[in-house]
Amino acid sequence: MALNLIMLGPPGAGKGTQAERFAKLKGIPKISTGDMLREAVKAGTEIGLRAKAIMDRGELVSDEVMIGIVQDRMNRDDARSGFILDGFPRTVAQARSLDQVMVGRSPLIVIDIIVPESELVRRLGSRMVCTRCGSNADPSDTKAISTLVCSKCGGQLTQRTDDNQSVVLERLKVYHANTAPLVAYYQGRPTFRAVDGAQAADVVAQALVDAVDGAKSVVVGGSAL
Ligand code: AMP
Repeated sequence: MALNLIMLGPPGAGKGTQAERFAKLKGIPKISTGDMLREAVKAGTEIGLRAKAIMDRGELVSDEVMIGIVQDRMNRDDARSGFILDGFPRTVAQARSLDQVMVGRSPLIVIDIIVPESELVRRLGSRMVCTRCGSNADPSDTKAISTLVCSKCGGQLTQRTDDNQSVVLERLKVYHANTAPLVAYYQGRPTFRAVDGAQAADVVAQALVDAVDGAKSVVVGGSAL
């Protein structure tokens, strides 16, 4: 059975970090729409140029563009044995489109990562990311933080342009208005699980593995939905 996962949760919940770890552990691709957009911005593509201003304001790129990007990526060969989506879906319209794309595939396992708002603001305000490999620096890695050198690839660490305080507050507002309703959209499914994301990263990673194992066990013959 293919392992098809989505990660819900507000910005700063640790979706990216946990998705990266889980993807490596299970040998499936992590599909991060934020990373894909940031790469498009860096490459100066038309989508990137249009997305940059929207991202810098903390708003959402249109459903149409996002659905197109994700659909193309999910149809690549490496996503056949599964994938972990990070940052998609972010609206009910995106979730509905994803359900259509999923027809004939193993059911989605939906993980909601829960973190209190005060902790999110604190994390996003101090988050440092690598300009080369895109990964978040471990906040306890004082050497990397003080030298601004990524311990994974040696690239330069910097603050994301959308992690400044006013944009963070806008992103949280956008999350509550557009993305939080996805919990109600998915939570009646037997493959929905919530994970406490306010714990240490290693503890969250184990809770995620356990939650996915639990959700997988209710999928009978690929038809849990
Ligand atoms: P992230 O790295 O997931 O925090 O995404 C960074 C920014 O990219 C978001 O604030 C949005 O502007 C944009 N973005 C990423 N994923 C989506 C999506 N599924 N729908 C709309 N906009 C998105």
